[in-house]
Order: sequence, then C-alpha cells, then structure tokens
Amino acid sequence: MDKYVYSFGRGKAEGSSLMRNLLGGKGCELAEMTNLGIPVPPGFTITTQAWAHYTRAGRQWPEGLEAQVVDALARLETDAGLIFGDPQRPLLVSVRSGARVSMPGMMETVLNLGLTDKTVEGLAARTSNERFAWDCYRRFVTMFGTVVLGIRREAFDEHLEAAKRRLGVESDPEVPAGELRKLVQTYKELVASRTGAPFPQDPREQLRLAINAVFDSWFAKKAVEYRRIHDIPAEWGTAVTVMAMVFGNLGETSGTGVGFTRDPRTGEPRFYAEFLPNAQGEDVVAGIRTPLRIEALRERMPEIYDQLLAIAGRLERHYKDMQDIEFTVQEGTLYVLQTRAGKRSARAAVRVAVDLVREHVLDQHTALMRVPPRELAGLFVPVLDPEAKRRALAEGRLLARGLPASPGGAVGHVVFDADRAVELARNGQDVILVRPETSPEDVAGMYAARGIVTARGGRTSHAAVVAVGMGKSCVVGAGDLAVDEGRRLFEVGGRIIREGELISIDGETGEVIADAVKLVEPPPFPELEVYLGWADRYRTLGVRANADTPADARRARAFGAEGIGLVRTEHMFFQPERLPIMREMIMAGDTAARRAALARLQPFQRDDFLGIFQAMDGLPVTIRLLDPPLHEFLTTPREYREMIEERARLDALGMNPERQRQLDQRIAKIEALREANPMLGHRGCRLGITHPEIYGMQVRAIVEAACMATEQGIRVEPEIMIPLTGTTAEMQATYEQTKRIADGVIAEMGVPVRYSIGTMIEVPRAALIADRIAEHAEFFSFGTNDLTQLTFGFSRDDVARFLPDYLQKGLLPHDPFSVLDQEGVGELIRIGIERGRRTRPDLKVGICGEHGGEPASVEFCHRVRMSYVSCSPPLIPIARLAAAQARLRERAAPGGAHA
Ligand code: PEP
Ligand code: MG
Repeated sequence: MDKYVYSFGRGKAEGSSLMRNLLGGKGCELAEMTNLGIPVPPGFTITTQAWAHYTRAGRQWPEGLEAQVVDALARLETDAGLIFGDPQRPLLVSVRSGARVSMPGMMETVLNLGLTDKTVEGLAARTSNERFAWDCYRRFVTMFGTVVLGIRREAFDEHLEAAKRRLGVESDPEVPAGELRKLVQTYKELVASRTGAPFPQDPREQLRLAINAVFDSWFAKKAVEYRRIHDIPAEWGTAVTVMAMVFGNLGETSGTGVGFTRDPRTGEPRFYAEFLPNAQGEDVVAGIRTPLRIEALRERMPEIYDQLLAIAGRLERHYKDMQDIEFTVQEGTLYVLQTRAGKRSARAAVRVAVDLVREHVLDQHTALMRVPPRELAGLFVPVLDPEAKRRALAEGRLLARGLPASPGGAVGHVVFDADRAVELARNGQDVILVRPETSPEDVAGMYAARGIVTARGGRTSHAAVVAVGMGKSCVVGAGDLAVDEGRRLFEVGGRIIREGELISIDGETGEVIADAVKLVEPPPFPELEVYLGWADRYRTLGVRANADTPADARRARAFGAEGIGLVRTEHMFFQPERLPIMREMIMAGDTAARRAALARLQPFQRDDFLGIFQAMDGLPVTIRLLDPPLHEFLTTPREYREMIEERARLDALGMNPERQRQLDQRIAKIEALREANPMLGHRGCRLGITHPEIYGMQVRAIVEAACMATEQGIRVEPEIMIPLTGTTAEMQATYEQTKRIADGVIAEMGVPVRYSIGTMIEVPRAALIADRIAEHAEFFSFGTNDLTQLTFGFSRDDVARFLPDYLQKGLLPHDPFSVLDQEGVGELIRIGIERGRRTRPDLKVGICGEHGGEPASVEFCHRVRMSYVSCSPPLIPIARLAAAQARLRERAAPGGAHA
C-alpha cells in the first residue's frame, strides 16, 4: 500500500527536505526542521500523490488514506499531549496547503480546526481565557465557512463590524467574550441558512472536509492564474499539512511574525522581520493588521528574540540561502511554523548570492545558478528621478507615505481593482493598482500594473512578497489613504484622487505622489559587477550587442559587450537630416543623380561608423549592409495618405501645378516600388545586387572610417555583413564586389586595415547550403528573426493576429519570435553550423535575432557551439549569466563536456 501520510514531531520526522515533490515545500521543510531540532509543532503531511489520486478519482480519497490519517492523528495527539475532540484537553490543528514551489497566499488554509460547542469550553477552561477560546471559535467558523463551505467572507465580517459599532470599539481585541459567544451563534446560523445543514460538530468530519477543501484549492482561480504566470504545471498538485495549533493570541507574552534572514528588497544582511503581539499569523499574512517592527519583540521578549535570530542564522546556513520564516510565540515559547527560500527583488538576489560566497556559505558555481537570468532585467527597473521628485515634494504633491515593499519607481493611472488593471494595461495604459489591503485575488492585476499601493498591510504581507517576486514597485500600509472601491476613488489629506488620475510611487521610500514624476535609469550596483565577473569567468560563449549608434555602442560596452554583432545601417538613413537625401537617391531619375545623392550620404555614414569604432576600440564590429526594401524610406502610411489627399485637393482646386507634378512623381515611384509581400521582396542582398552603388557607398564608408580610426590609434576589427543571402551566386557576387571596393579604399588611403566579409544566415536555403555559402563568407550570423519567419512561414508583421490564439490553445509553447524554436529553426541552425564549419573549421558563428538575449535560446546557442550571441544592450547581463549557467549545467550533466 502506498504511504500517503508522513508524521513529524518531538524531534523526529519521517520526511525531509529531499521529499519536496511529495510533501510540498512546507511539509518537507517542517520535517527537515523537526529533524534539525528546531521547535516546530507536531503534525503530519498528506502527499501530493494522495492529491493526484483524489483529483483523478473525482474527489475520492484513495484506499488507505483514511486509516493512515487516523494513525497519524493518534501520534499527533501523543506528541502534543492533547486529544482531538476532547472536551477537556482539545487538540486543535491547522490544515495547510503546500505545493512543491511556494505560491504565497494562492491556496487555502484552515486554522483552529477541532473547535466545537463542546471543545470551546475545554479550551476556555484550560487556558483560563474565555475570550481567547471564543475568539478562536469565531475565527474558525469564519475560515471554515469561507474556505470549506464557500460562503463569502464579508457575510461574516458584516456581523463583526456591526458588533464593534454597537460596542463603540475600534479593534477586534476589544470585543469581549460574551459578544464573541453571540457572534459564533450568529455565524452558525448563517452557515445553517446558507448550506442547509448545521455547522459540523464532529472534529473528524471537519478535518475530512478541510483536507478536501485544501486539495481543491489547487484549482482556485487565483492559484490557476498564479501558475499560468509562473509556468507551474497543473499536475504538480498540493500536499496538505495538518499541524497542532500554537497560539500567538494568548495575551501579551504571545505573538506572531514573519521574518527574512536578509532584506528581501536590497539583500542587505540584516534580520528583516515584523511582529504582531497577541495575534494569529493570518492577521499578519493577510495584511489585516499592520505589524510592528521586529524591535518590538526584542523589547518585549529579549530571550525569544535572541533565540529567533539564532534559529534564523542556522536555517540560512543549513539551506545555504536566504530564508523566509513564519513564527509564533505562545506564552513565552517560540515555535517556527514555516521556512522557505525568501522571495526577493533581483537586486537582493544578486546581493545575497555574492554575499553568501563571500561568507563561504556558497561556492561561485552554486551562486551563479541561483539567479534566474531573466530577473536581471529587474535591476534596470527605472527609479523616480531624485531631482524631479524633490520638486514634486516641494510643490506639496506628496499624498502619503507608506512602507516601501518592493523597489523601483512607477508612474501610472490609478485603478482600484485587478480586472480593471488588466483591461487598461491591455490597452497599453500604465496603471497603478491601489487596494485597501493586499489580497491574493489581485495577482493578475498586480502583474498587469506598473506598481501597487495598499492602505493596510505590512512589508511581509503576501502581496508585498508577490510584488517583490514580480519585480514590481510596491508601497504597502499607506494608512492615510481612505480607499473607496465602490466610488473608485481614494481620499487623502482632504484630496480626492479618482480612477484614471496619474500618481507616482517610490518603492524605495514608500512615497505616493500626485501626478507623474520623471523616471530615470537606476544607479549602478557594485555586486552585479562582481557577479557578472564570475559569470564571465565560466562562460565560453561570447556576448555582443546589437547597436546602431556610437551612443548605443558605448552603452553596450558599459553593459559588458565584447563587440557589436549587428549594426543595422538602415537606422542611420532614417534620421531627419538624412531622410530627404535618401529619398532623393531613391527618386533619382538616372545613375548620375543617384550617385550624387549617395555621395552626400556617405560622410554621414562614415562618421557614424567612425564613432562606433571609437567606442568599440579593440573589439569586433559587425556592420550589416542595407536590408529593408526601398519603399520604406519613401513614406510612412500616414504620409502616403496625406499625399494622396493633398493631390486630390490641389487637383480639385486646379492649384499649384508644380507641387502637383512633384506629388504625381512621388506617388508613381511609391506605386512602382510597392510590393505585395515586402518581407519576401526586394530587400537584403537583392538590393545590393540590383543597386550595387548603394552597397558600394556603404562599404566605402565603413572602410574609410576603419582607416581613419586606425590612423587615430584605434584598433578596429570591421566585419562587413551581407543580409538575406540565399544562394551561392548571391554570396559570391556580393563578396567580390565588396572586396574590390574595400581593397580599393585601403590602397587609396594607404592604411593597412584587416576586415572580413560574412553573411547573415536567415533564409532557410542558406542554412541548408551553408558549406557552399562558407566558400565565400568568412563568418556567419544567424538572423533568427527572419529565419523564424521563413521557417514557420509566419509573417513577422502579421503574426500577432493569430499568435495569441495559438498560445492560448497550447498549439505553440511560446512565441517563436521571442523564444527560439529549437526543434525546427534550431535544427536549421545546427545544420548551418555543421555544414559551414565543414568548409571553414574555424568559422565564426553568431546570432543577432531577438533570441540572443533570451536565456533558453542562449543556452541553445552554447550547446550548438556558436561563437557568440548578440542582443540589445540592456539584455547583455542576462546573456552573460545565461551563457555561464549553460556551461555550468553542461558540466554538471552526466557525460557533460569538461572543457
Ligand atoms: C534577423 O532577421 O534576425 C535580423 C537580425 O535582422 P532584422 O531583424 O533586421 O531583419
Ligand atoms: Mg533579418
């Protein structure tokens, strides 16, 4: 018979950290902590395998589960010294979810289970605290009623709020025992009327129902949404942990809290925790009451504080990672209820990884594997410009100050619910989600928003934690905001801010400011340099940048680029002072006029190249010759429309024949150049072949710039790249033309410059005949944007029409224009590299499509032995780390390369 239940208690546990998939994160770590001798209340965990059987069998427990639960409960009673359902010494338990990865607040928990009309009296007598016992019962009926029986929480809360109003008290602890007793009665009546059955008075029945509800909560809307965002497979399921209750609400020597062993926003090594005296954990996690700083615990219970700190340090060293710990103090005794790797901002992730190596807790390999490369993008999240913020504050635009929960600045239109946030964000608006308190239902809205503000809740409330994980700027506990969801506004200091108005928030300081404040790039971050320095030490794949201007090139170099993998020269023609000359060139009636226009463009190009060579002194620069079809330079669709309208107007009025003639000529040219399918049309090297003078001008500009740079003492390594090559003849003709001009310039200028001529591989045919292409190409660069387009037959410009459907229906795992399709496009790349290197064993091969900065694609490029990836400058850190991880993973794999 399968074992479905694993017990832990009194220093001994059947499970361990290694059983994460079976026991879930929470269950396995409770077992591990028990074995480590850390004070954990006793309990047992029901496996994810039991969940799988239950789910598959249509919500039926598998055979044997019932008996195993009964046995584990008996053991739990012994360990706790209490008896489930006993009127004198009642055992109460919590029933908690726990997936193999943490999904904060996404699934359900039931606390204080085991309370009935009888056991509540026993609890009151045993604790000599009637109010406490009835308060627990009230909480239990509420939680059971909402989580298990599906009644809206507000239905219960209304009665509590009414009682408080009647009594003239503000907070829950002021409600006396007698009133709570009456509330429980009301709650039970509410349950009976909503469900048609009395509130269950058999604790075993309560337990069975609660376990089912926690199993089922895997399919709750918010959990499904969270899984979708975080790519968590639905079949993993949840374990259920049943654990003896300990109480943080037994008076002033009790309390509860949450703590991180390091600051999750910055990674700073200090215990970052919050504590709420005389309260249960749900109060903190759900953000219902705003907790105190951990210093409050040090002042009230210094010994407990020291014990907690020692445990935190021990857990961190044991797990070799920053931990997020939940704890409760019951009448002066400390219990740890949970530990898990703490969610953290990207900045903290890097800082913690670097610090743990410096503290000799981790080695560099492990540290490098710790940060998902994509998260590094979060390091470049903008911040509010300090000067602009100072002015805003001086103008009296500060609305409120809350707790800074997740760094970065954000500016957006205020919205008050998650659905609206999603809707507006989909229409391209920046929004800031403002909520009274943090709530797991808001996940999709938080994801859509630029930033999040809550009026209540602490820095460790689950939504603050979720925001940190998402890398979203977040301010919580901005207590001055009176949020009125119904009227879609908030009021603060006599001001009213309505839905749609702009606000700015600073997740670093907790400020909420009216109107927009300018956003700027974040300040530099020394630990990142150290971390990426380690990555560079391990990776073998080069990292270059796609950059089109000297400024971009400098930026790329600052991010660590080892060269430029793609200069798209057409971007230089689009600049306002150059576009008219370009148009003149295209419109030219004869070769002489065309050459004259090109001669005027040439100095511009040369100066750009010179600037780029200067910025990339000592590093290779791949410059691609003109690629897009000529008609793109003639008009935008709007200009074209305006030209047609103007001509019609002039024609009707019979005015300005000179202008009419001009318009006629231009429109005729545009019509002549128009293509049914420009992506498959007259572009790339096809242009260079029909208009050799254009490529000629560009080659001349590149080589002149290289000679000039060399004369200035700059080391240049120009690589001239031919786009969209598909046949050997194209390659050969373009190669020979390019070489003739380049050698001519070198001879003219008398400066010895070494250059190479290569090609993009972006037409499938080129990959297939790569051995022949390599006879005339000295390097390859895979243009995976076009290669994806041409391999799938998906137009880059039109794919958005059907791609969302394909993704939603699961017909494609990812957008193939973002994540390289390794199966199809990847196969062409493999073939291209293998055949190319058959002709030239030392052929330099790179990639310059958008995939060059995407971690999974970078790993692929490493595996197929590319020389480098090239991506936009801000993605360079991601590519550096992904390349290092690819190599480390390969070395760790059985039979992996050891080079
Ligand atoms: C490509 O096709 O991958 C590429 C880099 O070129 P472009 O995007 O300019 O077509
Ligand atoms: Mg291309």
